[in-house]
Amino acid sequence: MARARLTGWGRHPVIDGDIEQLRSIDELCQRVRSGRPLIARGNGRAYGDAGINAEGTVSMLHFDRLLAFDATTGVLVSEAGLLLDDLLGVFVPRGWFPPVSPGTRYVTLGGMVAADVHGKNHPIAGSFGSYVQWLDVIVANGDIVRCSRDSQAALFAATLGGMGLTGVILRCCIRLMRISSAYLNRSRVVTNNLVETLATFQRTEAASYRVAWIDCLQRGATLGRALVDVAEHADARELPPPSRDRPFQVRPHTALVLPFTPPFSPLNSLTVSAFNALYYGAGKRAATTKLLDYQQWFYPLDSIAHWNRLYGRHGFAQYQCVLPLANAEAGLGELLREIADSRCGSFLSVLKRLGPSTGALSFPTEGYTLALDFPWSQTVATLMLRLDEIVIKYGGHLYLAKDARVTRANFERMQPRVAEFRDARAASGAAAVFQSRLSERLGL
Ligand SMILES: Cc1cc2nc3c(=O)[nH]c(=O)nc-3n(C[C@H](O)[C@H](O)[C@H](O)COP(=O)(O)OP(=O)(O)OC[C@H]3O[C@@H](n4cnc5c(N)ncnc54)[C@H](O)[C@@H]3O)c2cc1C
Repeated sequence: MARARLTGWGRHPVIDGDIEQLRSIDELCQRVRSGRPLIARGNGRAYGDAGINAEGTVSMLHFDRLLAFDATTGVLVSEAGLLLDDLLGVFVPRGWFPPVSPGTRYVTLGGMVAADVHGKNHPIAGSFGSYVQWLDVIVANGDIVRCSRDSQAALFAATLGGMGLTGVILRCCIRLMRISSAYLNRSRVVTNNLVETLATFQRTEAASYRVAWIDCLQRGATLGRALVDVAEHADARELPPPSRDRPFQVRPHTALVLPFTPPFSPLNSLTVSAFNALYYGAGKRAATTKLLDYQQWFYPLDSIAHWNRLYGRHGFAQYQCVLPLANAEAGLGELLREIADSRCGSFLSVLKRLGPSTGALSFPTEGYTLALDFPWSQTVATLMLRLDEIVIKYGGHLYLAKDARVTRANFERMQPRVAEFRDARAASGAAAVFQSRLSERLGL
């Protein structure tokens, strides 16, 4: 047990608590049986308070063994504390890849299941839960229950996207997909406004991966201008030599390290505005198609270790919402206008298309998701309350893996499925045992 200052990736909020480092499955089950509240924690990449609890935060990082792999079907059984980075290190050289990947490889499989993460390919591939065949979950009485779509189906559905609130995920059985190289062909479309940006998403519906960086400080005729990137896995035969002969080998990337936390964030409306102009301008001039290795395409932020320190001592908040398709243009326009008017620039502003929803509390819903990072301040907190009202007005909701601040009342106005999730948790006894700062804040 180690006393620690506990926080998520956004470094806000910070609470004092214990990180419990249990070494055996028996110890884990005993800990759950003790009845003292706890939350399982993966690698702490949720931005807010989903993976912290002052009463007990149990690290799953020791439970990281690969248990079985079927090289004909791609079915992998692993403990839930395995890092995606380690999985990639073993399986990419053998021609396998996770069908869904978030924007960082420093997450655990348990964290990916608990947040039912989505990638840049959600409309085509669905979320990570779609590739989970079964889970072993330590439930409230300390027993290990195997659940799947056919057996203990309610537990299975609630655990996908359940943010660790149904139990401790111990083992996962997931399906990987075949790739013929570790590279992707990326093409870039530069748009002048939101209408063009959404039209580009529509035009590229058949593509595997799509993501846009939006210049969130634009208004008027250029509101919503963006760089829309579209990508496909590259066939080994398309690679230039010498990669063609070693299609799964990628050049090792040495991550830059942000060595300290500045006392205040250098990211403000002036620097973000300058960055946006440069980035958009460079995007316009750059070649439209490019061959990228999988790390460059899927995990560009991982090239700077501890980049979250850039936001200064007070940390930062990500605001990630989804708006239903029918309201997307009007809702996104209103959100972007509110952000531009506030002059609270977000240097990372990402737009993705999502497909239909899956797990009980899973985030994805058919529509568009916008994610923005802001340094913490009272002004930003007030802006986010105004953004909440716009999201509610257009029938959208927020992503719990990114949230640190939405009120219970606003969350309930956004997410109609919450009552069912809460009732199921109470009935199964999970509510008494599995608790996080997030579940307390939202009354889950
Ligand atoms: C740079 C960056 C980019 C990201 N991009 C995306 C993206 O594109 N798409 C997306 O969907 N998400 C994205 N995320 C969010 C991230 O994928 C999720 O927050 C994920 O849950 C983090 O996994 P973790 O192992 O770090 O879990 P933690 O942050 O430690 O925990 C997250 C949640 O999972 C639960 N949990 C973790 N392990 C277990 C377990 N074994 N049993 C039960 N519950 C468990 C915790 O209780 C908590 O509720 C991104 C995050 C970062 C930092």
